Amino acid sequence: ETLLSIQGVSKYYDDTLAVDNVHLEIQKGEIFALLGASGSGKSTLLRMLAGFETPTDGRIILAGKDITHLPPYERTINMMFQSYALFPHMSVEQNLAFGLKQERLPQGEIHDRVQRMLKLVHMEKYARRKPHQLSGGQRQRVALARSLAKQPKLLLLDEPMGALDKKLRTRMQLEVVDILESVGVTCVMVTHDQEEAMTMADRIAIMDEGYIAQVGTPMNIYESP
Ligand code: ADP
Ligand code: ADP
Repeated sequence: ETLLSIQGVSKYYDDTLAVDNVHLEIQKGEIFALLGASGSGKSTLLRMLAGFETPTDGRIILAGKDITHLPPYERTINMMFQSYALFPHMSVEQNLAFGLKQERLPQGEIHDRVQRMLKLVHMEKYARRKPHQLSGGQRQRVALARSLAKQPKLLLLDEPMGALDKKLRTRMQLEVVDILESVGVTCVMVTHDQEEAMTMADRIAIMDEGYIAQVGTPMNIYESP
């Protein structure tokens, strides 16, 4: 079942063709990686999915609905930024509740969801801590919980391990995949790290100068020359 359909999407910045006629079908529950060198157009494509940029051409369909021109807050899509994007003056709990309060959910519902999210990412014991009192891996888990709390149809991850050192990164890749799979959320992630894409994704699209050079499972990609 297709959740996200990217249909002939292009993006020009003046004379630069940042994204070149991309067609992709992303399945419900899939973890999909956009892999490519710096400047290949990954972030631009992700920002168009989030609604921070408008395509020059093409359409983006989410769950059967054309969202190409919808503002970010009207999409049931959430972007997780690197872990330093947590609010430094708020506790873990307050960070998780923040977006839900903005959505004006009832107090009881907010409380329940925050508790569920803390449990999901194994942070129940750290609910009262501030981000600077957490390790890198813990901050990463809180950032993930915060983006999942709103229950988006689609989760976008921009270089999710970018703020972590090499050793922690490998462990967090597996942990994040576990969490995403237990929730069953559909996910598009951007990375320039081939190993990260191979470890985390169900399918990978390789981007090169704005276009999709290849799409396949990690096994397909690994076996091709
Ligand atoms: P990646 O995420 O793969 O590093 P980007 O999507 O950031 O690639 O960039 C793709 C191309 O678009 C690059 O040539 C980059 O310089 C250009 N680009 C990205 N954002 C902008 C912008 N806001 N204004 C002008 N050019 C941009
Ligand atoms: P994780 O593997 O979950 O990222 P670490 O192994 O880095 O955690 O840290 C182990 C313990 O040390 C954690 O319980 C964490 O609370 C604590 N800790 C790590 N960094 C800090 C810090 N900067 N301030 C306070 N406590 C920290």
